[in-house]
Amino acid sequence: MNKRTNTTQSQEEQIITLRCSRCGRPITPKEAVQTPTGYRCPDCVQQQQKIFNTSRPLDFVWGFLIGAVLSLIGSVITSFIGFFTLLLAPAAGVGIAEAVRFVIKKRRSKRLFRIVTFGMILGGLPLIAINLFNLIVRLQVAAFNLFALLPLAYQVLYLVMAVPSAYYRLSGERRR
Ligand SMILES: [Zn+2]
Repeated sequence: MNKRTNTTQSQEEQIITLRCSRCGRPITPKEAVQTPTGYRCPDCVQQQQKIFNTSRPLDFVWGFLIGAVLSLIGSVITSFIGFFTLLLAPAAGVGIAEAVRFVIKKRRSKRLFRIVTFGMILGGLPLIAINLFNLIVRLQVAAFNLFALLPLAYQVLYLVMAVPSAYYRLSGERRR
């Protein structure tokens, strides 16, 4: 009798003490999934599989090139549309991300996403450099005024808005 009670108790204890090694949620042995790092709840296992690296080596080349070239085109457009960059840059980021996703067939890896954003930053740099140069030249012949700063500011804002937008679109993470 005593022995039986003990068994029941230890079973109950086992059920209660089984927790997901990732999120700490209590889980029943039935739904627990064993992984190299311990038991996981079904939700965490699914999440883990989502971020699992599926990229191929060529994806990095394409991701970088598409990110850089489209970002350069975006920065050229930025120099024409000026203020409207503030409205369109996030959409440009999403567009670049979608173009990359289309080519790499939605394969994923964190490193790949970083390389795409790195390409985007490099693609935006030529116009930043040109505008910076123009600004310096202009400051030597005229007094500083805020309007002289605008073309450069739009280029920087373009990158600041488009790059995170592309990254979050690619990774599926939400902005925090
Ligand atoms: Zn979990």
